Amino acid sequence: MERHEFLELKTELLINGIKSTPEALKGLGSKYKEQNHGLFGWDFEDHANIALPDDFALPDDTIVQFRRNSRSNYLIDLVNDQLILSNGKENLCQVKWLPRPAFYNKKTTSNKEMVKIGQIGGEDCLFFCYQNFCSHFSKNEQCLFCNLVSTSQTYDSVLKKKATQDIGEVAKAAFSESNVKHVLLTGGCFKHQKEVELVTDIVRTISEHAGLNRVPGTILPSPAKNLDEIEKYYDSGINAIGFSMEIWDEMLYRAICPGKSKSFSHDEFVNSIRNAVEVFGEGNVYGVFVMGLEPRETFLDGVRVLTSLGANVVPFVWSPNPGSKLEGHRAPTSKWYLETIMEAAQIVIEAKIPSGTENHCFKCDGNSLLHDALRLKGIE
Ligand code: SF4
Repeated sequence: MERHEFLELKTELLINGIKSTPEALKGLGSKYKEQNHGLFGWDFEDHANIALPDDFALPDDTIVQFRRNSRSNYLIDLVNDQLILSNGKENLCQVKWLPRPAFYNKKTTSNKEMVKIGQIGGEDCLFFCYQNFCSHFSKNEQCLFCNLVSTSQTYDSVLKKKATQDIGEVAKAAFSESNVKHVLLTGGCFKHQKEVELVTDIVRTISEHAGLNRVPGTILPSPAKNLDEIEKYYDSGINAIGFSMEIWDEMLYRAICPGKSKSFSHDEFVNSIRNAVEVFGEGNVYGVFVMGLEPRETFLDGVRVLTSLGANVVPFVWSPNPGSKLEGHRAPTSKWYLETIMEAAQIVIEAKIPSGTENHCFKCDGNSLLHDALRLKGIE
């Protein structure tokens, strides 16, 4: 297969989901990394009693999130001791599950299982959700694509609140493993000042425990109210910051994110990103989007505006996952995703934004296509 075909294949796999035979799942949870639902569930179907892979690698090292869909034609089977991906008609390529981190078997000094505190996304990104709670659900104003509460109820696989000290210990254990390169920190919505204090405290603790002068990776807090808050985040020692805008088009943002848009306007996000570029520097700030819920034109407008401010973007491929209000809906076609992401990649390249791959790279997560599209254009 040619390199561009792997991007096409990843797109197909993300929007159609995949299934696997029981033989293919041998070694999962011991040798290979299983899903632990640190925040959202991305599968098309829940699988409370079945361990499934978090993600897998295609032959060109492209990382693909495993999104279970028993109706999908895509299948991974074990054939002659190799994992083979087929489309129901023919074999496509060999794939690899990702190794299970050693710290998944360890406990903190407070006797907490480390895997319930931090998880590895993709191959190299240590993920912490500092609080699995979002106030918008209680008013039925959650973002239409979000399944935070149902994921937590279905799997109950992580601690909802994590002690900062425990996070530090997990970071130390994880960074001692050779493949771990970045952190990603996020949480639900809660009282603003508390979030600034909590996040800066966590970053300092990670940096002390892992022996890092500055922490390579990204925090995704709520929009900052002013430059002072952004400086506090920077001074804590994290290298990059991002803000989850979700949807660029303002009217759609209000419709799709009813609670969040009451707390933070489109303009507050843009101002936070502008201010953050001043403090963190070009390329070290991200606008995070859910891709597939707004027209190509408005999504690309967002990419254009944010890159003109010196920011990068991370667009996650929307999954109509169980427990969200959009469960059972369908994503746009793979052609739509491919054409849109290639155009987005071109906009990023023309804006000459530093790639920021020392903080977030194509190995970090299997649910975004932009890094892969940029790789095709020579940016790793
Ligand atoms: S703000 Fe939206 S996406 Fe984030 S946790 Fe709350 S409902 Fe989910």
